[in-house]
Amino acid sequence: MSAKQPEEYIRAGDCEFFERELASFVPDRIFDAHAHIWDSDHGEQVVWADGFPSDVGLDLYRQFVDCLHPARPVSALFLSLPWNKDRRHETNEWIARNIARDTTCRGHFFVEPDDDPDWVQQEVRRLGLHGLKCYFTYASSTWEADIPDYLPERLVKVADDEGWTITLHLVKARCIADPGNQYWIRHYCETYPNMKLILAHSARGFQPSHNLEGLPALQGLDNLYFDTSTNCEPHAHEVIIRLFGHRKLMYGSDFYLSHLRGRTFGASDSFVWVEEDSPVWNQKQLAFQPSLIGHEHLRSLKLACWSARLSDSDIEDIFWNNAAELFGVEPPRAS
Ligand SMILES: [Zn+2]
Repeated sequence: MSAKQPEEYIRAGDCEFFERELASFVPDRIFDAHAHIWDSDHGEQVVWADGFPSDVGLDLYRQFVDCLHPARPVSALFLSLPWNKDRRHETNEWIARNIARDTTCRGHFFVEPDDDPDWVQQEVRRLGLHGLKCYFTYASSTWEADIPDYLPERLVKVADDEGWTITLHLVKARCIADPGNQYWIRHYCETYPNMKLILAHSARGFQPSHNLEGLPALQGLDNLYFDTSTNCEPHAHEVIIRLFGHRKLMYGSDFYLSHLRGRTFGASDSFVWVEEDSPVWNQKQLAFQPSLIGHEHLRSLKLACWSARLSDSDIEDIFWNNAAELFGVEPPRAS
């Protein structure tokens, strides 16, 4: 299959969706705090979707997200895709090369649990990266892994020494409602206050009740942040805004997932991903086309901001200022 161009991912209905739902909501500049770029020659494979170009660097990423939210300049924090365990060194280098071209972009270094902290420190410095990305598939127990299984404390200590950010994708069936996850997040944040921890996907609260149940236990941690990426449940974001304030929340597209179709739904005590090929879109009386996940996600964020009565400048914080300050693109404002 030949690679599709960015505009080929966009259908006529997507433009209507953006104009109707999002054009008046999305601010005029964006910091995308959770985005993926890759280079297949260096071992990355996009395994959930066919047709993406084998290499997506900074320029092509910007072309893709310009289809998602047109005519907005975008800077980003780039994260490796975690699929290929053998070639992560090349992908860390790929991100470093791309962000070196733009002083407003940032990159996280992909770590494995067994990494030597001194080596990680040297590599992140050498590559000019800004923090760490870990992933649960590198732990032995995967979906029920404890946080230290894929983010060991010795790596958090290095992040504290260096003032780095860490992007953490939680697992376990009840996610942030799980006492073990709460314990380790509080322990890391309190023990290492110079480290800043970012809980991806709005604390992976794809079942927003988990956020409502679990996040109160983490209030008061000043070095705890959230990126919104992929989560299509308004209440997941709203709980964060209500408990932590909007300054702790940062927009993330989760490109390339943003360019697939469907959405996440909270259900029972869990959630489901409904993808484009699901029969759910073709029920007799109600056949319709699934929207881009990136657009569904943005609409969920709009509904959360509306419900929390955020102002336009608050929304600009979520889309730019919070990330620009956390990642040192701009100096912190006086609070
Ligand atoms: Zn992601």
